Amino acid sequence: MKIFNTMTRSKEEFVPLEPGKVRMYSCGPTVYNYFHIGNARPFIMFDLLRRYLEYRGYDVKFVQNFTDIDDKIIKKANEEGTTYDQISERYIKEYFVDAEGLRIKRATVHPKATENIDEIIDIVSTLVNKGLAYEVNGDVYFRTHAFEGYGKLSHQPIEDLEAGARIAVGDVKEDPIDFALWKASKPGEPYWESPWGHGRPGWHIECSAMARKYLGETIDIHSGGVDLCFPHHENEIAQSEGANGKPFANYWMHNAFLNVDNQKMSKSLGNFFTVRDAAAAYGYDAVRFFMVSAHYRTPVNYSQESLEMAQASLARINTTFANLRFLMQNGAEGEMSEKEAASVAAFEQFKQNFCDAMDDDLNSADAIAVIFELVRAINTVCAEKNVTKTYGQAAFAMLKELCDVLAIGQPEEQKDDLDQEIEELIAQRQAARKARNFAEADRIRDDLKARGIILEDTPQGVKWSRA
Ligand code: AMP
Ligand code: ZN
Repeated sequence: MKIFNTMTRSKEEFVPLEPGKVRMYSCGPTVYNYFHIGNARPFIMFDLLRRYLEYRGYDVKFVQNFTDIDDKIIKKANEEGTTYDQISERYIKEYFVDAEGLRIKRATVHPKATENIDEIIDIVSTLVNKGLAYEVNGDVYFRTHAFEGYGKLSHQPIEDLEAGARIAVGDVKEDPIDFALWKASKPGEPYWESPWGHGRPGWHIECSAMARKYLGETIDIHSGGVDLCFPHHENEIAQSEGANGKPFANYWMHNAFLNVDNQKMSKSLGNFFTVRDAAAAYGYDAVRFFMVSAHYRTPVNYSQESLEMAQASLARINTTFANLRFLMQNGAEGEMSEKEAASVAAFEQFKQNFCDAMDDDLNSADAIAVIFELVRAINTVCAEKNVTKTYGQAAFAMLKELCDVLAIGQPEEQKDDLDQEIEELIAQRQAARKARNFAEADRIRDDLKARGIILEDTPQGVKWSRA
């Protein structure tokens, strides 16, 4: 597999540190609100990466953190007259509701910043002892200049960063490009005991501490949105490599933005839609499909049309799943026809093309195109008469295998109460016909028609659909 590495700005062959094992870390949400569909992009795309690596047989240890203490969380708690942990607990719960809807697998570990304060203090102390950090009035800052290689991820020479940095009024830092590792707490704020007095961690340090604790000093893949590249990931590198004296991550992956009207969707711009709202309008599955249908490094635009297109595309895949489920139950017995056998023989090639696309820096857009070619090939065969159960089973298994990697489509039958009732009525109608009570059979058919349910008598049995 090739991965585009932000560090080298090129596609590189992916070689994990330990054969067969992958250690990956992805920066997770700051939990003070429902997450918006811009945030959903990295969550879905790196879940996809993890699923694909697992599909290829890797044992993946995946860590995605929750930032559960920060200014915005404290502000929200003050506004609501509650505590920071009430706010973060609430939105962690809500994160999992949306993540489950979007079929984002739980990470191996979802560590929280506040549960790793000892590790954070430990790494800050190491940096102070090494002369890479210093304390001023209870704050601790990273001495950016002292870390060789600062700017290497975002490809900015430190001189350019220095030239662009502003000295803020009342700044106590040695250099404007230094950044906070630990902040002295203000009166009334939550705090933890530390060698520098009461305080709380800065944002960047938690990822260095948690990546090391759960994955080790050097990890395979580190990922997040492109806005995190600088300064967040640059600072993570400085902290981790400064403290451990080892490379931090071998591959850096960044997703492009999800935009609205060509502007980044963000909480601060106020142009955001929560996943909760998008799911209410289009369904979680359509949101995931929309996301997966674009390559993660291509900017995408969120619009009603694009979500409606996703719904329609997904419906095509689901129709094929439904037809195949029907065929598996009601298809012809016996051997496959020549045409069916030829179709099955071609499945391996679809699978190969699918993997080639995914191996090319997780090109899920091309992978979905392969799924649609497969759907077309299956539909062509299914349009024939007397298609066999055996073909139904083989085609279903192939389509399910590829769709499951992307976690799209409906291989499982999703029955609601109405479906159950319809099926009971269809069974009653069949019984009436068998008893030659055609008046009753027609009555049931008309009754269903009035409710928008169309019955079709096929050689394989009765098929129904919504008009
Ligand atoms: P935050 O909670 O703001 O730290 O963001 C969580 C994740 O969402 C980070 O990986 C961000 O880079 C990413 N992100 C935020 N806004 C967008 C957007 N509009 N498009 C894509 N990714 C985003
Ligand atoms: Zn991070």
